[in-house]
This record gives sequence, structure tokens and C-alpha cells, in this order.
Amino acid sequence: MILGDVIERNARCFGHHPALLFEGRRIDHRTFHERVVRLINALADLGCVKQDRIAVLSRNCPEYLEAYGAAALGGFVGLGLNYRLSETEQAAVLADAQPAVFIFEAEYAGRARALRDRLPPGTHCICFEGPMDGALGYETLLAAASPVQPALRAVEDDTFLLIYTSGTTGVPKGVMLGNEGQLEQARTQAQSHAAVQTDRMLVVMPFYHIGGPTELLTYLVAGATIVLHRTFDAQEILHSIQAQRVTAAHLAPTMISMMLEVQEKTPFDLSSLHTVCYASAPMSVALSLRARAVFGPVFMQIYGMTEAGLGTTLLKHQHVLDGSETDRKRLASAGQAYLGTALRILDDAGRECAPGEVGEVCLRSKSVMQGYWQKPEATAAAMHSGYLHTGDMGYLDEDAFLFIVDRKKDMIISGGENIYSREVEEALLMHAAVAEVAVIGAPDAQWGESVAAIVVLKPGAAVTAEALVTHCRSLIAGYKKPKIVKFVDAMPRVPSTNKIDKRALRAPFWAGRERQVS
Ligand code: ATP
Ligand code: MG
Repeated sequence: MILGDVIERNARCFGHHPALLFEGRRIDHRTFHERVVRLINALADLGCVKQDRIAVLSRNCPEYLEAYGAAALGGFVGLGLNYRLSETEQAAVLADAQPAVFIFEAEYAGRARALRDRLPPGTHCICFEGPMDGALGYETLLAAASPVQPALRAVEDDTFLLIYTSGTTGVPKGVMLGNEGQLEQARTQAQSHAAVQTDRMLVVMPFYHIGGPTELLTYLVAGATIVLHRTFDAQEILHSIQAQRVTAAHLAPTMISMMLEVQEKTPFDLSSLHTVCYASAPMSVALSLRARAVFGPVFMQIYGMTEAGLGTTLLKHQHVLDGSETDRKRLASAGQAYLGTALRILDDAGRECAPGEVGEVCLRSKSVMQGYWQKPEATAAAMHSGYLHTGDMGYLDEDAFLFIVDRKKDMIISGGENIYSREVEEALLMHAAVAEVAVIGAPDAQWGESVAAIVVLKPGAAVTAEALVTHCRSLIAGYKKPKIVKFVDAMPRVPSTNKIDKRALRAPFWAGRERQVS
């Protein structure tokens, strides 16, 4: 089976049911299927062949989803270009991916013009809003294309998406996700998240990030309706949940935090909402408790990554219901493996760790990437001995709940002891004055590295560095307490996902020195 079968099944079985609600537009499953078919035929008419990359530079919109639909059914490779990157970074992605087609929305016409000049001659350029600067008009192409079943059709082993990682720890790498693998992922998630046809799933995660397409496919597998948003605005999202009677949403922890601020002041009616998935970064226990108090028992945490085709483990709200000691501990967990995912925690020698022992999180599942695009060495380094080596450090408890404690590259080694930044960050976040924190390793002549805490205080709050260190002493072992505390107004962020940019935070401490990473 291929992902395209889902689009056909939805058209056949739920044809008049809305597939997409977007800015006052309603697109039913039958119309969506027909437009995907026309797009495949239009691309074939232009001379495109299977596995050609179709690059898109746009914010979320139905046409963008059609391009991914054409990849799912027609066997092209969808490539969402991160619109937050600089021109040079985007040009590097395009040079790496060599797309046959470059589609953009008019909003980015200026940038698209500059990028097109760097593309090989013969690359087809298409603008969603109509012909422009020599680019073809999307609707004109669709109108002229045949609505009849296309000759091109994906097969299971085709690459479906080329998604670039967030670039949190280095230059983003292109991840090849297979058609059948992504279908498998969507089916597994649909079952575990209990997605049903009557669901209304709010999607606001950008399509260039794995969180957008995977959650969307999860709910398309269920034949549900996607409530699509172009960009994130806390007030607008809360209003949309109320007005559209949204039942499920997929958000990043920073989005939840911003929505909390609004909801605490001006409550919206969120009674329709039964599931809020979040992934891509940990959410502190302090924020989890606050979010649960305001939104209720709706949260599902996913631990995943681009290379795994997203979800690897899931923490359901049912896992943390009664507020017992075990429950509170589990709030810091990323949950249990999805059925179909085999998890192993391995030490540096490749031996399996005992419960409670920290090692590298390794996994196997049908949805793991086919490899990094044109990076055989990086692929071999990440995928060997039958497992994907995630670069994340964690442990499993006795009931196979996974706890992510750090990234291997961020872990601090001080006097031979491993210090995991998450534990120190959680301790600092328990202080009432602290709004945000990032813990990093700073060079230390005696210990190799020492713990440095970068802290953003809550508006109007005041606390000294000494008081914060004393606070930590009551919660964690002495060698883990911060030696340096630096107050800043705001954290530097990775442009694609808004994750805290620890490389940028480390830079001033390490100027001119090489940091050893295990
Ligand atoms: P790059 O690989 O380019 O450095 P990235 O790893 O941030 O960037 P993504 O694939 O978007 O790119 O993110 C996956 C990573 O995010 C995981 O490897 C993990 O470190 C972190 N992550 C995702 N979900 C969670 C979670 N629930 N809890 C803790 N960390 C998480
Ligand atoms: Mg990564």
C-alpha cells in the first residue's frame, strides 16, 4: 500500500466530507483528490518523472498539501523549503536537492526570483497565485491538466519526502522518508492517538518540518478534517479551536506556553478539544503542570525526530492521571514506544543499558529514514547494526518509559562526571523567578567543563545568581549546580523550530577553543 491509496480511499468513501478548512475555504476529499490528480498530470506534462524533487517555498496552504499529495500518489519527492532561512541557506538546500520544480507563493516572489537565478536552467518555476516573472501560474496549469487517473504512480519504496533536519546541532541534513514508511507511521499514530473520522485536527506546524506532514497524514488516514493554519498566533489558534470545534492539535512546547498566557487572561471555550500533541523539544515539568491545570487532561507528548519519520515514543495523558509520585515522575518522561518501534539504550561500547542507566537512544521501525540525501558517511554513522542512533541520551524505567536527558552533543562532562542539562534546567525552572533557562558546558581549566546556566527571568522578577545556585543545591547534587549564571533578556533560537540555540549560547564561552564532544 502507498500513501496515495489514502487520498483515493478518502475521495471514494468520504467524498463530501471536508478534508481541509482554511481561511474560510472548505475543500472536500473528492475535490482534494481531483486536484492532486490534475497536479500529477500537469507535472508530467512539463516533463517531470518519478522521484523528481518538487520544492515548495510557502507558508502552509491547501496548495502546498496538494504538492505533497502529488508526491504521495504520483511518486515525486516533496521538499518543503524552510521560509525562515536566509537566502544563502535556502540556496544551499536547493543546490543540494536539485529540484525539477520550484513552487512558491507570491509573498516570497522577491526571494524566489533571487533563488531562481541560482537554479539550473530548465527548472520549472510555478507561482501559486498566478503567472509571475516568467513563472507559470499554478491554477492555469491545473485547469489545463487532465483529471483522469495519471500514468505516474508511486510505489512503496519511493522516497516521499526530503525533509531537512532543524539544524539545532549543525548544518541541516536532508532526510529521505519512504512512501510506505510514512504510511506505516501515520497508521500507527492514528491508532495510538485514537484518531477518528469525526476529528477536526488543527495543523499549524510548518510543512517543511516533519511535525506538519506527519500529524496531517495521521488524521488523513482516519478520513478526518484538517483545520489548517498559515502561521502561528496564540490568540488566533485559540479562537480557531473555539470557532471550528477543533478536537485535536499538534503544537510545539513554545506554542503551548504562548497559548497559556492568553488563555489564563481571556479564556476561550476549548471544550471540544480532547488531544493536544506536542513534540520536538522537552516541556518542563513546571510548564506541564501549569498547562494541565488550564487545558485539562488533553496532552500527549511525542518524542521523535526527522530521521525516525517523527513519533518514536508517546506519553498519553492517561499515563499521568492521578498526581501520584510515579505520575509526577512520568511527567518528565517521553512515554513508551509506539507499537512497531523497537527501542534500545546502548552505552559507548554498544552494550544494552539496564533500566535507569543512561545511554544513547537507538531505535528500529519501518518508518525510519531511507538515509540522508547524498550523505552516505553520515547515513552509515547514524544507521548501523540494524538501528538508528539518535544522538539523544536517555534511559528506560522499569515499565519501559523513556526519559530523554540530553543530546550527546550538549551533555556536559565535568571532572569525568556526565551532567545532563535537562536535570539542571528542571531544577532552575522550579524557581518562581525563572521564565526560561538553558544549561551548557563552559570551559573549565580544572574540570574540563563546568555548568553554565543562561537564565531569562519572568517580567518584574528579581533574583541573584547566588540565590539560584543555593536553590539548585537543595534539588540536585553539588557537582551539577551551575558555576556560572548569566542573565539574558531573551534566548537565541534556531530559526526553523524556535528551539533554544545552544551552539550560539556556547560560542562566547568557547571563543578560540575547540570543544570535545564524546
Ligand atoms: P539537527 O538534527 O539538525 O541538529 P534537530 O535534531 O533539532 O536538528 P529535529 O529532527 O527537528 O531536528 O528534532 C529532533 C530532536 O528533537 C530529537 O533528536 C530530540 O533531541 C528533540 N526532541 C524531540 N522530541 C522531544 C521530546 N519529546 N523530548 C525531548 N526532546 C525531544
Ligand atoms: Mg537531530
